[in-house]
Amino acid sequence: MTDTIFGKIIRREIPASIVYEDDDVLGFKDIAPQAPVHVLFIPKHEVIPTLDDLQPAQAHLIGKLALAAAAYARREGFAQDGYRIVMNCRENAGQTVFHIHLHLLAGAPLGHFGAP
Ligand code: 5GP
Repeated sequence: MTDTIFGKIIRREIPASIVYEDDDVLGFKDIAPQAPVHVLFIPKHEVIPTLDDLQPAQAHLIGKLALAAAAYARREGFAQDGYRIVMNCRENAGQTVFHIHLHLLAGAPLGHFGAP
């Protein structure tokens, strides 16, 4: 199993601002936030390097990440204002940590995205 900085966060070997946890998912604040709210949601028990590596039998993990982000948004009171979830896959998307993760961005109107 390939280890990453996120594995160290899961094992509490390095500090992180953990704001959400359930049996399958850990959520913690991004160290370099790109919005007033920027939380990363990761699977705790599987290391899947990229979305391109996800197998059909693992598809439920993406739903768990999305449900965790939605639950966090409701709990923190910004679900009605809206938010964005993002998954980056490999170089052209700027992926830097190869443990699959979902970004939750919120807290202000977010600029549109698209072409470089
Ligand atoms: P990616 O660019 O791979 O989609 O997202 C990786 C994210 O992890 C980046 O937004 C980056 O700021 C964040 N990150 C990298 N190292 C750490 C760390 O040690 N702690 C935390 N909390 N976030 C990190």
